[in-house]
Amino acid sequence: MKKAPTLTYFLGPQIAERDGGWKCHYCGCDVIYGHQPYLSHEECKRKCHVDHVIPRADGGTDELNNLVLACQTCNLKRGRKPYEAFLQQFRGNSQ
Ligand SMILES: [Zn+2]
Repeated sequence: MKKAPTLTYFLGPQIAERDGGWKCHYCGCDVIYGHQPYLSHEECKRKCHVDHVIPRADGGTDELNNLVLACQTCNLKRGRKPYEAFLQQFRGNSQ
């Protein structure tokens, strides 16, 4: 069975416009958006995911202000970690 893409995925272009490009919100890599049938293993890691700042399970919404772009690697790494705690891993020492 084919997995249906989530609706938030289609907000990708609006998020990219708001945030100034197709970048992972966490690690800053260039994400790959859209249907790409032939991705290399490396490219797969940068597949674009739309991540919820506040998870839907915790009452987060599908509103634009609760969504960020994330590469597949970061999205999977985050798992159920809270947004702030996960972001700290990337921004921790820089500011
Ligand atoms: Zn990333």
